Amino acid sequence: MTTTPGGHTPEKTSVSLLGLGSMGTALARAWLAAGHPLTVWNRTPARATALTAEGARVADSAAAAVAANSLVVLCLLDDASVAEALADADLTGKDLVNLTTSTPAEARARAEWARERGARYLDGGIMAVPPMVGVPEAGGYVFYSGSRALFERHQAVLAVPVGTTYVGADPGFAALHDVALLSAMYGMFAGAAHAFALIRQEDIDPTAFAPLLADWLTAMAPSVHQTAAQLRDGDYTRGTVSPLAMQVAGTPTFLSTAEGQGVSPELLTPYFALMRRRLTEGGSPDEDLTGVIDLLVRP
Ligand code: NDP
Repeated sequence: MTTTPGGHTPEKTSVSLLGLGSMGTALARAWLAAGHPLTVWNRTPARATALTAEGARVADSAAAAVAANSLVVLCLLDDASVAEALADADLTGKDLVNLTTSTPAEARARAEWARERGARYLDGGIMAVPPMVGVPEAGGYVFYSGSRALFERHQAVLAVPVGTTYVGADPGFAALHDVALLSAMYGMFAGAAHAFALIRQEDIDPTAFAPLLADWLTAMAPSVHQTAAQLRDGDYTRGTVSPLAMQVAGTPTFLSTAEGQGVSPELLTPYFALMRRRLTEGGSPDEDLTGVIDLLVRP
């Protein structure tokens, strides 16, 4: 613990935390381990009492937990559970930090809801799983959006469990960044599932194949920087090394291979269909796959 020049030990910010599921419990343990006074509440009380041995104070209602401190962190299942838990709480003058996963629209509405009740509001999207919490080298962080002043006021305490990344004043932006990254992750999972399916019935050890797959995905991942630069400049041919026409011409190879291996192509065909549509609806044969993004965005 650091000591001020005057010899006083600075007080650690007190936190109220509502929600002690697997993520909330991990957050609680990180704040307790760092010496932050912590008041907790959970709908099912047993999960809260389990933390008393580690120094947590247990509030007997969500309203009491909110009343206990000015900084109130929420980590509940979904947006509906936030509304339910805080129905009877007096939020006047509170700093609400909502780490519950939600949509951008829910986050914006929740920010307005909080403002109408006299609270300041910061939304968060957690880019970590519980074992990464309290382990700085694991690289977990939370996207924050909403009031920058509120973020800056509490950044030090918010950075105790995992890192912090502020992405803008729009309260929906944290959720948007969160869902965007996770959506890309599901695309990667889909590709990996197809790859494993292709080798599944052959004499190929999946554990020998996995490092090849991981290395290839890692090598391809930086292509997002080129996509971003093309989107920014509006020039989808800039720096292209694998032109759209060539890639579309190659798609039958993938479909025939899937057929030959007895694998459904259903994870690949939607993307291939978009590639073909881009080519037939005016995309340059020399451009990258960036034009697919334009087809996805609804006017
Ligand atoms: P859990 O399912 O483990 O816990 C859910 C929590 O929400 C519990 O505390 C539960 O209380 C509470 N809850 C559910 N419904 C209500 C309600 N109607 N009123 C009050 N409390 C309610 O989820 P996690 O802790 O894993 O996740 C919490 C948030 O963190 C979610 O939004 C999740 O998306 C997000 N997150 C989780 C990650 C993970 O890997 N776990 C990763 C990134 C984000 P009770 O104990 O009474 O059921």
